[in-house]
Amino acid sequence: MRWIDDNRITAAVKGENKTYFVTLNLRSGKAWCTCPGYYFRGYCKHIIAVKTYVSRRLGITFT
Ligand SMILES: [Zn+2]
Repeated sequence: MRWIDDNRITAAVKGENKTYFVTLNLRSGKAWCTCPGYYFRGYCKHIIAVKTYVSRRLGITFT
């Protein structure tokens, strides 16, 4: 997990056979992922994993 700026972090998430990168805006709650699931659905399990991790670690709740 790495900070991009004051509001955004990026994190590498291991998929089945690839590593994907999730970018999360902590202020807006918006997230992006490099996986095909995100490309087609606009959401994916990697984003959920990163949000769960971040909310536990930083005490942030996403709505
Ligand atoms: Zn993903």
